[in-house]
Amino acid sequence: MEKKAPMALGDDLYLVDGFDLGFEGRTGTYVFMEEEITLIETGPSPSVPRVLEGLKDLKRSPEDVRYIVLTHIHLDHAGGAGLLLQECPNAEVIVHKKGWRHLADPSRLIQGARAVYGENFDDLFDPIVPIPEERLMVKEDGDTLAISKRRTLTFYDTPGHAKHHIGIYDSLSEGLFTGDTAGIRYHQTADEGLVFYLPTTSPNQFDPDAMQRSINRFHELNPARVFFGHFGVTDDSEQAFNQVSEWIPVFVSEAKDALEQGEGMKGIENRIYQRVSSYLSENGIQPDHPVYEILKLDFEVCAMGLADYWKKQSRT
Ligand SMILES: [Zn+2]
Repeated sequence: MEKKAPMALGDDLYLVDGFDLGFEGRTGTYVFMEEEITLIETGPSPSVPRVLEGLKDLKRSPEDVRYIVLTHIHLDHAGGAGLLLQECPNAEVIVHKKGWRHLADPSRLIQGARAVYGENFDDLFDPIVPIPEERLMVKEDGDTLAISKRRTLTFYDTPGHAKHHIGIYDSLSEGLFTGDTAGIRYHQTADEGLVFYLPTTSPNQFDPDAMQRSINRFHELNPARVFFGHFGVTDDSEQAFNQVSEWIPVFVSEAKDALEQGEGMKGIENRIYQRVSSYLSENGIQPDHPVYEILKLDFEVCAMGLADYWKKQSRT
């Protein structure tokens, strides 16, 4: 296991890289170093050793962890929660009210992820450990949680990527944890002078209108910083939100065109790939840049969510 120390983000907040899919800077766990040690996201189960290692680097033990907040229950964010909880006897898991049931009984979650990830499921996510009901805590829109005298988290119901999605505002950093609702931060091209943002439209609850409304709410909160599920932080919330808002209708309409032309799922993927790669080449990113490996994986999943969205639209 390649070693990587937790990244200090200021305000006693750290980011532990979970090396999801083996990629550095893909999915992480945020750690608030407060009286009540609080984590946001666990990553999938294969990332749990990384999280435990990160706590050790921060000179804290798993017994110190009091809360584990999950932005949503997709397995790349929450899949490791049950496994991690076994190591953290004093922790409770905070989740959206539409998500808790599936953490207590993950059978449908597993079934859904198998449908999306197929034979890669075991490598990516196994094991999914159920969470005892009494250790699950639901937070609704506007609810708060004080994790120390100086620091309060506020939770927001922010659908669009998933119906079971919460955003979290941190009073101390004045930062917002947007999970997957406000898109993915692609930092892999930072050395070339570009960091860019794209929506993530995974199946099967993607809703572009809800996503835009949630982003508008994030915007109104005017956060000083935005902490992404994938990956890292920006001080320029305006830029991130604007870029994602511009791309949502592009993804949706390219998917519609692909389906109308009978190009299927592969067509959706290809069209989005074309649009994004021409944007990247305009911005000086070479076609052989490693970011494309990640984009291909992401667009495969995005295409499924877009196809699912249009299928539902055609029924109504
Ligand atoms: Zn995700």
